[in-house]
Amino acid sequence: MGRVCWLQLFFFGGGGGHTGLGVLPQVHLGVTPPSPPSLPAASGLVEMGAHWIHGPSPGNPVFCLATRYGFLKERHQDFFQPPLPKRKAEAIRHLGFGTNNKIFLEFEQPFWEPQQQLLEVVWEDESPLEEPSANLEANWFKKLIGFVVLQPPEHGHVLCGFIAGEESEYMETLSDAEVLSTMTRVLRTLTGNPRLPAPRSVLRSRWHSASYTRGSYSYVAVGSSGDDIDVLAQPLPEDPKDPRPLQLLFAGEATHRTFYSTTHGALLSGWREAERLNQLFKAPGPTPQL
Ligand SMILES: Cc1cc2nc3c(=O)[nH]c(=O)nc-3n(C[C@H](O)[C@H](O)[C@H](O)COP(=O)(O)OP(=O)(O)OC[C@H]3O[C@@H](n4cnc5c(N)ncnc54)[C@H](O)[C@@H]3O)c2cc1C
Repeated sequence: MGRVCWLQLFFFGGGGGHTGLGVLPQVHLGVTPPSPPSLPAASGLVEMGAHWIHGPSPGNPVFCLATRYGFLKERHQDFFQPPLPKRKAEAIRHLGFGTNNKIFLEFEQPFWEPQQQLLEVVWEDESPLEEPSANLEANWFKKLIGFVVLQPPEHGHVLCGFIAGEESEYMETLSDAEVLSTMTRVLRTLTGNPRLPAPRSVLRSRWHSASYTRGSYSYVAVGSSGDDIDVLAQPLPEDPKDPRPLQLLFAGEATHRTFYSTTHGALLSGWREAERLNQLFKAPGPTPQL
């Protein structure tokens, strides 16, 4: 393990930062996700919770699919019948979907100063522009960017570490005991105190392993562009002249060209699709049967 030092910052920007702590209902490990829906049946009410806008009319369902993009990326081929149009399938293939996890460490007593908000880990002799070594087993923890001190301390002395990328996915394969012991090693190195008490408990997210998420949020991968996001967001059927009624709508962070990967992007995409339905209901001609 290299030598490390720490810095304190007062704010934290970007996806996976502070706001995530407040807005995400994401640390509910062990929650059973809903069962997969059976789309082709499409008769009667399909109830999938808040993530679906649905209609009970047989033969004319309007669904709004807002499932986590990772699930769609992995499963769209067997999820839809008939399959998604080639253009949309290609867009899904091009866009990236990554992993960002949180590691919560609870301590008997804080070893940090009361005013400290963030403990940032900086590895000496390594450029932040370089990926750490490919040896994940030996180096995964070096991807950890630091720890946020959770407030208020009356609720416990808890640090929340952030780790993204392949290293984060590797971390998911380890046991709690292994993560706890590695975090203890990192913190002992960081503080220069080899006897620093180990955390009394550890709790972490596993967004990559969770079968209904398969990761954290989308990104514009090398070789993809905002155009792929727009294609993904297109409702089906795509051609406005297609005589068939609107069948399938797409929402979720990965469908927002500007604010992909964020909660507000997800929210705006939901409003966008709700507005599409509003326009459908307002349109002259026979009232769509939903
Ligand atoms: C660690 C972390 C930190 C983050 N920090 C921030 C931040 O600071 N700021 C910010 O703006 N964003 C942040 N984000 C991103 C933000 O959380 C997401 O962009 C947002 O929640 C995505 O919303 P969504 O509606 O697209 O997907 P989700 O909220 O994931 O909703 C999709 C839902 O579909 C369900 N589902 C999946 N498959 C099926 C199925 N087959 N049937 C039924 N249901 C299914 C899933 O269980 C899930 O509940 C963070 C994310 C992570 C993981």
